Amino acid sequence: MNNVVTQKKVFLETYGCQMNEYDSELVRSILKKENYEFVTDEFKADIVMLNTCAIREHAHRKVYGRVHNIRNARGEDSPVMIGILGCMATNLRQELLEDRSLKIDFIAGPDSYKRLPQLINEAFDEGQKSYDITLSEFETYSDIYPSGEDRDKHETKSRVNAWIAVMRGCNNFCTFCVVPYTRGRERSRSPENVVEEVRRLAGEGYKQITLLGQNVNSYRYDDYDFAYLMDEVSKVDGIERIRFSSPHPKDFPDRFLDLMAENPKICKHIHLPLQAGNNRILDMMNRTYTNEEFLMLADKIKKKIPGVALSTDIIVGFPTETDNEFDDTLEVVKKVEFNVAFMFKYSERQGTIATKKYPDDVAPAIKTERITRLIELQREITYKKNKELVGSIQTVLLEPYPEAKNTNQMPGRTDGNVLVILPLGDYKGGDLIQVNITDATPHALKAMPIKNTCNFLPTPAFKG
Ligand code: SAM
Ligand code: SF4
Repeated sequence: MNNVVTQKKVFLETYGCQMNEYDSELVRSILKKENYEFVTDEFKADIVMLNTCAIREHAHRKVYGRVHNIRNARGEDSPVMIGILGCMATNLRQELLEDRSLKIDFIAGPDSYKRLPQLINEAFDEGQKSYDITLSEFETYSDIYPSGEDRDKHETKSRVNAWIAVMRGCNNFCTFCVVPYTRGRERSRSPENVVEEVRRLAGEGYKQITLLGQNVNSYRYDDYDFAYLMDEVSKVDGIERIRFSSPHPKDFPDRFLDLMAENPKICKHIHLPLQAGNNRILDMMNRTYTNEEFLMLADKIKKKIPGVALSTDIIVGFPTETDNEFDDTLEVVKKVEFNVAFMFKYSERQGTIATKKYPDDVAPAIKTERITRLIELQREITYKKNKELVGSIQTVLLEPYPEAKNTNQMPGRTDGNVLVILPLGDYKGGDLIQVNITDATPHALKAMPIKNTCNFLPTPAFKG
């Protein structure tokens, strides 16, 4: 390998979902083995790579703006190379390479990261634009185990939560969604392989594992399903909590819900993406469930897992959605009372079924009006759910002290994933402690530690 190339400095910026965060960890692992150095100051980098998201128009525009911004900041004559990774790479290769103002040097899709050293070399040595956006039916990166160092961002060591992709791709083809086109077909890693990665992470001090997949609960490897995988992961010593994201409502067998109820390491939190509450719109979205089935599932989950926290994703203004149909979404939100909701205006994505079949005909002002109403409703529900926890005792996993903020507060998360703020004390990120919830805001809980359950020795100063 060419020495000049292998000593290059790389600045990697990640957009979008947790899966992209994990993919960036894979990329660090792959390139570090080839002697690339990762830097946190983009002006010191020979190569700037953006790991992109294509899920909504907004994410897409941000990346275009960022590339122009890098080129402007580094100047016309700068030799800095720019590479585009991730979902935008797959569905916008042509556009990205042909846009002369962007001057993109190389492009790698989500299944091509092992080829990055070669793509970079081609761009450096031959000065040609190089790309690989092939989608694989098999690539799961199961032979790459990103270490704690590969996972550290901004030079802070945060050995509390680690993401692990257990499956990749999606076969569902919801009509609004670009993921099946940018990330290809579903494929899963073997349970042994996932457990091996978890063991390594436990050995490095990680306390929480979040299992990831575009459609994580449709995980299947031979006869092993997601319930089996979760159970196996929970047996790894040192791991205190397990979370998962993002599931689809169609894959919640009773066996899995029973396991969640019984297994203390599996957090009692389910992200249950609703998308819409009206049956005609759900059908047009190809979500494969009705309003009634969704409500029944939410009810069953609440009965089987007492105290469970539910979160969701909702899209407003899908093509042809009327005011009355949007009201159906509000009704489901009121009935289920999600603890948290991620709410989006519908955004047309290139190549999707909805883009081909349904004109984006809900006016922007109506989308804005609907999302404003929805956000307001959800804000009240979140606040109510938070207030219900005041006076309770919760087990909290402390997050790393946010050094950059230099505050006198320590963040943590309840089992249900609610943010908890504690005063500084003789504890640190990664500790699992019991607390009394003393107050609630619409976004977080305030708490005091229970001294006799966590060896709490009050100290006025942070002991990080
Ligand atoms: N797999 C998950 C599921 O089944 O719901 C969703 C994952 S998707 C990557 C994240 C969220 O982005 C979706 O749940 C949806 O709410 C939102 N989203 C996807 N495509 C969108 C679009 N075209 N416009 C607006 N929001 C979109
Ligand atoms: Fe997209 Fe999720 Fe539907 Fe798959 S299940 S197509 S990732 S919204």
